[in-house]
Amino acid sequence: MNINATLINLYHVCQREMWLHAHVIRMEHTSDVVYEGKLIGETTYPQRAERYTEVELSLEPEVPDGARLTAKIDFYDPHRGVVHEVKKSAAKEQAHVAQVQFYLYLLRKNQIKAEYGLIEYPKLRQTERVELSVADEAQLEGWIAEAGRIIATEQCPPLLAKSKCRSCSYYDFCWSSEPAS
Ligand code: SF4
Repeated sequence: MNINATLINLYHVCQREMWLHAHVIRMEHTSDVVYEGKLIGETTYPQRAERYTEVELSLEPEVPDGARLTAKIDFYDPHRGVVHEVKKSAAKEQAHVAQVQFYLYLLRKNQIKAEYGLIEYPKLRQTERVELSVADEAQLEGWIAEAGRIIATEQCPPLLAKSKCRSCSYYDFCWSSEPAS
């Protein structure tokens, strides 16, 4: 099994969405939200390619039947050991913090400098700093284990409340056969 940063993000958003994504049932190409996110990433900081490096990481399972962990970091500052992440969201979310903590975790496990992360929210004009303490690491390992357990089940997790699904790319998939609410 492979667990990446997207799945750790989705673990905090909707575990059903995480399961669908992990089982390669994908709807993102139809989503305007995803397109908007890409657009913000490409147009807000066009100069960042000069300063930041793209990094791909992996970590083999430390326990039998454990998950292989992988990540692709778009903007990593190797001199300061800082991970940058841009979010198009108009609200800060725990899922964003968890994703960046996962990046920091994988960098450190690969003996690569990882001091902290910065999540930039262009719509909010705010930047949030993300740390990874020893306690944070333990919590993250718990999320990874739980995400792996959920993904390994054959049953897709239940739906969220419909009010939380409006901007989800799986909306039609999840709700087209459900009674209106
Ligand atoms: S539509 Fe709702 S229940 Fe379905 S994956 Fe998206 S957030 Fe989860």
